[in-house]
Amino acid sequence: MTRAAPTTLRPTTPKEVRDAVLDTPGRLAISGAGTARHWAGRPAEVDATLDLSALTGVITHNPGDMTVSVHAGTPVRDLQAELAGHGQRLALDAGRIGRGATVGGLLATADAGPSSLVYGAMRDLVIGTTSVLADGTMVRSGGHVIKNVAGYDMAKLLHGSYGTFGPLVEVVLRLHPVPKATACVAVDGPVADAARHTAAVVSSPLEPIAVEWVSGDPGRLLIRLEGGVDTLPGRVGRLVDLLGDDAREIGDDAWSGHAALTAGQPSTDAPEGAVVRIGCAPARLASLVAELPATGVTAGLATGVATVTVPGAAVAEVHDAVAAVGGTSVLRDRPDALDAPAWGPAPSALALLKAIKTQLDPGARFAPGRFDPWM
Ligand SMILES: Cc1cc2nc3c(=O)[nH]c(=O)nc-3n(C[C@H](O)[C@H](O)[C@H](O)COP(=O)(O)OP(=O)(O)OC[C@H]3O[C@@H](n4cnc5c(N)ncnc54)[C@H](O)[C@@H]3O)c2cc1C
Repeated sequence: MTRAAPTTLRPTTPKEVRDAVLDTPGRLAISGAGTARHWAGRPAEVDATLDLSALTGVITHNPGDMTVSVHAGTPVRDLQAELAGHGQRLALDAGRIGRGATVGGLLATADAGPSSLVYGAMRDLVIGTTSVLADGTMVRSGGHVIKNVAGYDMAKLLHGSYGTFGPLVEVVLRLHPVPKATACVAVDGPVADAARHTAAVVSSPLEPIAVEWVSGDPGRLLIRLEGGVDTLPGRVGRLVDLLGDDAREIGDDAWSGHAALTAGQPSTDAPEGAVVRIGCAPARLASLVAELPATGVTAGLATGVATVTVPGAAVAEVHDAVAAVGGTSVLRDRPDALDAPAWGPAPSALALLKAIKTQLDPGARFAPGRFDPWM
């Protein structure tokens, strides 16, 4: 293990992570590629940082079973490059993958992209994890089989945990084939029109992979299809017919601006804005985002997940509006000087979360501050 700075530990194996946890007294921050450093509650002062960016590499790839196990610090874009040679991929298109986000970091932040409509989030793609608890216990859950329901499902618990239960060191993932062809159809209009189009598309047999509205003047609905080289053009034609005269096929690079917004970067219209991630029932999302003082919006009208850029002073108002429709929200990027709440009202399961935290990390050593003010 190398020490990049006096208080930064860079383990290269799961055993070195365990040794670092046992040998380092006090509170520990956990970092991967640092692409979600500013998300959720601001990290509180710690005694050392556990930098997992050197804990990389594929451990086992079973192409026949379509599963792979990797060290948690592996950047997903590196994993995709390795899997592509086998015609396989991790079906996750979170925006910050392009900035080097790691497998463990994406799981710990519950991140996902537009194609979660069909493939789900990391929660749905992870089938096993190994993590290290505060007392040095290595906890292994799940494995290489997709049907595996024995024992506690730690992987689901760690999804969105922001490191508060301890570092992930290994992750087992299910894989999907790389599609033979993809296409993107766009139709311009405000979010209310986009919601109407979305209802028609998701109830059709066209099986879109992603349905996302991106704000603008007047805004644009992007619909992505995947399929065979021979069959996809016919489905694109039927989709354009369904959406009407304004719809047209456009290049797949339409998604790069979308990825930048969801990755936590404020919209270029409001570089000093704060970025909030919202999740609610899909049917409520269009009217919710239309009411917010947002300058930049990406809204998954069929998943219920949106990312919005708002003035820093409006963050608390956004949390309240989302909670009022039964949704959840978390602050992503923000100006350094902004003192805004990272989370909305505490969930009803807070007592349970606190009890699990006390059980797994009784000294509150890991990732202090990330769930402030809840715990
Ligand atoms: C005929 C048949 C045979 C099967 N045989 C096997 C088998 O031999 N071995 C095997 O492993 N599987 C087997 N399965 C699959 C297994 O029963 C399901 O995959 C498993 O129960 C998950 O349920 P689900 O995917 O339907 O629903 P899920 O969406 O996974 O949810 C089921 C319920 O559990 C809750 N839940 C989900 N995740 C959590 C969590 N982390 N903590 C608390 N609650 C949670 C949900 O809220 C929901 O109420 C079989 C399924 C069928 C239909």
